[in-house]
Amino acid sequence: MEELPPEFRKRMRQMLRAEFPAFLSCMSRPSVRGIRLNPSKATRELLGKSLGFPLRSSVFSPFSYEIPSDAPKPGTIPLHHAGAFYSQEPSAASAVTILNPRPGEKILDLCAAPGGKSTQIAGILGGDGLLWSNEVVPGRAKVLLSNLERLGVKNAVVSSCHPEILCERLSGFFDRVLVDAPCSEEGMFRRDRSAVQSWSVEHVRSCAARQLLILRSAARAVRENGILVYSTCTFSREENEETVLAFLKEHPDFSLEPSGVEFGRPGFDLPRARRIFPMDGGDGHFAARLRRLSPCVCRAVPFDPPKAGGQKAAQALLEEVFQIPPEEKIVCSGGRLFVPPAGLPELSGLGVIRTGLLLGEIRTGRVEPSHALFLAAKPGMLRNVLDFPSDSRQIRAFLHGEELETDSSLKGYAGVAVDGVLTGFGKCSGGRLKNRYPKGLRIY
Ligand code: SAM
Repeated sequence: MEELPPEFRKRMRQMLRAEFPAFLSCMSRPSVRGIRLNPSKATRELLGKSLGFPLRSSVFSPFSYEIPSDAPKPGTIPLHHAGAFYSQEPSAASAVTILNPRPGEKILDLCAAPGGKSTQIAGILGGDGLLWSNEVVPGRAKVLLSNLERLGVKNAVVSSCHPEILCERLSGFFDRVLVDAPCSEEGMFRRDRSAVQSWSVEHVRSCAARQLLILRSAARAVRENGILVYSTCTFSREENEETVLAFLKEHPDFSLEPSGVEFGRPGFDLPRARRIFPMDGGDGHFAARLRRLSPCVCRAVPFDPPKAGGQKAAQALLEEVFQIPPEEKIVCSGGRLFVPPAGLPELSGLGVIRTGLLLGEIRTGRVEPSHALFLAAKPGMLRNVLDFPSDSRQIRAFLHGEELETDSSLKGYAGVAVDGVLTGFGKCSGGRLKNRYPKGLRIY
């Protein structure tokens, strides 16, 4: 690991006192590797059988597992491409465990890219409720969208909007809001050299100032009695306890609640907040759970879908792809067809780049299906499926973008699955499957 900045060492010695040597010793060892099961697409048993390396349950979330340090990189594992799991160090799942989302709720993840926490929330919602994943940096919002698609999430809105604008328009709309704030990333020093290199006391202070601004905006989006969780992956008091205290001073209508979890340890002078140090078996994390006690008028007006169009073409596609075509409300916008999640507010002016499930795009009167449609489906729903074992030559060839040989009786669109989990699709004719795995995702 990169040498720790002397000023950082000094601050950590002051913070941890007798525990400082144990901290340094942990920091000299690599951090834990982990994955998080996507319960919408796979089971623990399937991962255990298919991955070929042991999974050790973690205290930080029911779906998180520690994996051996020599396990293959996720990008080389076909089940990763199928969205059966998300690569995530287990303690990074702690903030969502503290958020405790419930199916049916409306949840805002305000600083969401690349999507570790959004995909975790989506797995818990299980398609029931609304997830709004926002990322202010447009390029990072695209990565967020790609991860949500890979994990087969159907009930999410993805936007790239400034928190102030988004939360003002959607004031009082959400049951729970997560602010996983941009921070100085001291807790990532073991895995990210650039975090060590860009660290300075000034950076810590400027992060703290920005965090308070984001929290102020986020507070507006929470409904009366709703929950706001603030989390970081850093150790500094300025960015953790002090940010929460500054927020509470300005917002006496919010109260700090017990975190409801046993892992980690209490915050400094803020016992209801939770800290995780490397000595607690994680990287470095902080989370505080706040509740709005005051009324908050919801100003969001309901979504007004664009005039119906493309319905016939959409129906034809669904009949071609599915054994029993789902009866969903379909919306057409800019030549693209979507199934919007229930309970949407008006979206205009909020930088929305995805609304629910993208079915496909209209091209010359017919609909070209989307990759997302197949990733969100289950093999048993489709008319045609080619299912390959994860160690097969065919699945690697498919993820590489090659054509596959098929039974000559297969015609039309077919899902391609690995160990029973859909990872893409192609079009069959004359004993061949023409590959539709997106070019930007191809591997090997
Ligand atoms: N929650 C994400 C996950 O689990 O994958 C990680 C979020 S990361 C810690 C913080 C995010 O906040 C970054 O993607 C960053 O681009 C974004 N960000 C940066 N400045 C911001 C701002 N002023 N307001 C909101 N988000 C910001």
